[in-house]
Amino acid sequence: MYDIIIIGAGTAGISAYKAAIKHTQNILIINDGAWDTTCARVGCMPSKVMISTANRLYDAEHANQVGLNLKIHADTTLVMTHLRKLRDRFTTATLKEVNHWDEQHKISGKASFINQNTIEVNGKQYQAKSFILAVGSTPNFDQDWKKQLKHHLITTDQIFELETLPQSIAVIGSGIIAIELAQAFHRLGVKTTIFARSRKVGSLSSPDLQQLAQQELGQELDILFETLPQHVTLENDQVKIEYRVDQELKTLYVDYILSATGRSSLLNTLDLQKINPAFENLKDLPLNTHTKQLADLPIFIVGDALTLTPLQHEAAHEGKMAVHNCLHYPHVEKIKALTPLSIVFSAPEMAIVGQSYQQLKKENKDFVTGFVSYEKQGRALVLGKNKGAIEVYIDHVTQKLLGAELFVEHAEHLAHLLSWMIAKDATLSDLLAQPYYHPTLEEGLRTAFKHARRQLS
Ligand SMILES: Cc1cc2nc3c(=O)[nH]c(=O)nc-3n(C[C@H](O)[C@H](O)[C@H](O)COP(=O)(O)OP(=O)(O)OC[C@H]3O[C@@H](n4cnc5c(N)ncnc54)[C@H](O)[C@@H]3O)c2cc1C
Repeated sequence: MYDIIIIGAGTAGISAYKAAIKHTQNILIINDGAWDTTCARVGCMPSKVMISTANRLYDAEHANQVGLNLKIHADTTLVMTHLRKLRDRFTTATLKEVNHWDEQHKISGKASFINQNTIEVNGKQYQAKSFILAVGSTPNFDQDWKKQLKHHLITTDQIFELETLPQSIAVIGSGIIAIELAQAFHRLGVKTTIFARSRKVGSLSSPDLQQLAQQELGQELDILFETLPQHVTLENDQVKIEYRVDQELKTLYVDYILSATGRSSLLNTLDLQKINPAFENLKDLPLNTHTKQLADLPIFIVGDALTLTPLQHEAAHEGKMAVHNCLHYPHVEKIKALTPLSIVFSAPEMAIVGQSYQQLKKENKDFVTGFVSYEKQGRALVLGKNKGAIEVYIDHVTQKLLGAELFVEHAEHLAHLLSWMIAKDATLSDLLAQPYYHPTLEEGLRTAFKHARRQLS
């Protein structure tokens, strides 16, 4: 009987293995498919390569914003090749590490439970004292559309494999992945149309910042808000999409539809109902969100498989921390929560740090909002990136920084600073006592903090 069996070798599973191997050699890790992680192969990394290329082109085309007159002839034929070359560098680095692991510890295949101590892979059974389930998730798409459109309906699992950029694409969805990729395609010269079920774009929960993002992104991108395709067919190797705007029937032809309507957990591959029939309903699994324990069993679910924060750094953290609970079961401890931090690599970038506006409202927290617009912010004007705004949320009584939402250039860096200050329990006076170099985007944060202070005094 093994001490631990880890199912899934993505970010969370690999992190769990690396933590577990320090304590026991009596482990097994099982993975279905490639061992190079969703993040490196079809997630974080290839998407960020594409966004970076797209933004470089956009900046060159808009160099007049910084007083330059450039004649641009953009040849985008190598964009996908460059993306895959860099992507392969990231996946190779992961595989190199995994290939060094003891072969006895690894099995390629799809695992499923026989009972609470036993799993089956490739027709053979294995038992363990504890399990870490790190099976991740898979993109959603409409099965009927897939039958109709065949390889013209793609998800993020296929998009980075396109030989060259398409002429045109329709993106279904306006969430994080949809907006990131749609803006990148648009900036690379692909005729891009976004079908959005609601008006929400990206992640922001603050009504004011959300509205600003809708306006800003709506100006640049072709977003059909509150509109979904009614009918899709394949016609002359093109996708014909029929949809309605104000009752009027419209038709659009595109090379591909990218389905970016969220992801579903792969826990359904594990036959959890064989442990307990009540586990049939995956939406209602008795998971302790603090310890990641399933019911009172020595089974821990980490990463994207079951989470409200499907993020790479959260998956890595949970995978590593779950090992402690496996080894000390039944003495199970809370996994130390990281300060919430999420980033959308749109332009301007979006970020949420600590508690979001919506969470604070839901919990009836007594807080003030410090606001700063970046339209006239000095450094943002210098960069020609004077768009968006930031809100910081300060507790009315303790004056501690509770959270922030950002929609500005370089939000990724500002968000890290804010999350580290939240982790340190910083108050408004701590924050205002920090140095702010001139001229920087960070000075905008000071403006927001001062705005909050005026409301408190
Ligand atoms: C396009 C895109 C962009 C993203 N961008 C970012 C970003 O910028 N920043 C960020 O933080 N996050 C980003 N993410 C999210 C990030 O990729 C995930 O949070 C992370 O990969 C989750 O890791 P995981 O270990 O939970 O799952 P995975 O890495 O998906 O690993 C799960 C593994 O389990 C295997 N498996 C499934 N079922 C079984 C079974 N029954 N038996 C055996 N093995 C099984 C799977 O095949 C897979 O290998 C992005 C995701 C996508 C899709």
